[in-house]
Amino acid sequence: MEKKGRIGIPRALMFYRYFPFWKVFFEALRWEVVVSDGVGRKGKIIYFEDSCLPMKLLVTHAGRLADEADHLFIPRLVSLHSKFILCPKFRAAPDIVRLAIEKKISILDETIDFRTREHSLQKAFLKIGEKLGASQKECREAFAEAGQALAAFQEGWIDRINRLPTRDFFDLDVPTPASSVGRLPRKSVHGSTSSPRTDIEILPFDNSPIRRQPFAPPFALSLSKGERFAQDGLVEGRTDMVPERKETPLRVAFIGHPYNLFDTDVNKDVIGLAKQLGMEILTSDLFSEKMIEQEISDLSKEIYWSSGREIIGSLFRFLSGGVDGVVFVTSFKCGIDALLQEFAKRTLRLRGGSIARLLVLSFDEHTGREGLTTRLEAFKDVMMTQRRGRPVCLPNGV
Ligand code: SF4
Repeated sequence: MEKKGRIGIPRALMFYRYFPFWKVFFEALRWEVVVSDGVGRKGKIIYFEDSCLPMKLLVTHAGRLADEADHLFIPRLVSLHSKFILCPKFRAAPDIVRLAIEKKISILDETIDFRTREHSLQKAFLKIGEKLGASQKECREAFAEAGQALAAFQEGWIDRINRLPTRDFFDLDVPTPASSVGRLPRKSVHGSTSSPRTDIEILPFDNSPIRRQPFAPPFALSLSKGERFAQDGLVEGRTDMVPERKETPLRVAFIGHPYNLFDTDVNKDVIGLAKQLGMEILTSDLFSEKMIEQEISDLSKEIYWSSGREIIGSLFRFLSGGVDGVVFVTSFKCGIDALLQEFAKRTLRLRGGSIARLLVLSFDEHTGREGLTTRLEAFKDVMMTQRRGRPVCLPNGV
């Protein structure tokens, strides 16, 4: 069917959570969706003072798309929660792009604010659809289809991040690898027509052994002909060496804003590196909002940012069991993350917990991959030491 034109979606910020929804919505209205490529090592990032790297990347991607699309889609995200708000930079994002890129282009910048009916998700998308010349009926159908597509995508999320290369996480043409370990249950999507204004519901994380991903255990010995693993994990039939115990992969939770976690231009593919080191990855997508709220209900101070609530709540939830360690991926110059990491460490100490299983990685455009590998390897050693029940020595003051 003939396309009406092209919608440019910058590969930045909430692209890393809602892209499947956005793509399906626009395509259902017969618009072609174009997405900017990653910047990579040689690409240039547009700089402006006092901004975090994710915002610079938004501007960079928008500038790249301006010649390729009829409209850019940069929603004015105020709140994705019935009570709490997003970082204020999100609401300024369309204006920052307008000011920063030289080319003039139409920007679809509808306000999305879950706290008000007027700016609910569905209303915002109906308005966007109307601007693109679609009827109300077409918009409603496209919205419902997009909600279903996002729910299906999220269902396979843990499989995708563990079994696909990072570059393919959001490539919808790449199918989610079939899992032999069960699936996450379907989630309802914010504002979908079937369940208006419900928040995403995710399988309760019950601290029972998490589904194992069926990739080869990274610590297993490679076997020669005639050798096999005995039931207790020792190698039978090997006479030239002391048998070594087979270990299950380290289970590591990655927490942070989704763009910090999944944009390799921010994090130098920290998740890919972790997988190379044999870690099995989990994210806060496993938890429902209710579970997150339970974890932070007794904090002395309210966290106003919904993303901050998700990060801190899932951190405590993960550290209460089920994982070997947690990696908090942050952006340098992010005021919210700077506060959150300090807050997390203090609260952990107050609760009598250890921060040995928490690694905070802060990224900016100068962060190198080599140093990152070293830190991840050291963290892996800490987790292995803890797993074997040995004490971990931390420097004074940590
Ligand atoms: S939350 Fe932090 S990293 Fe995200 S846009 Fe705001 S300042 Fe930047």
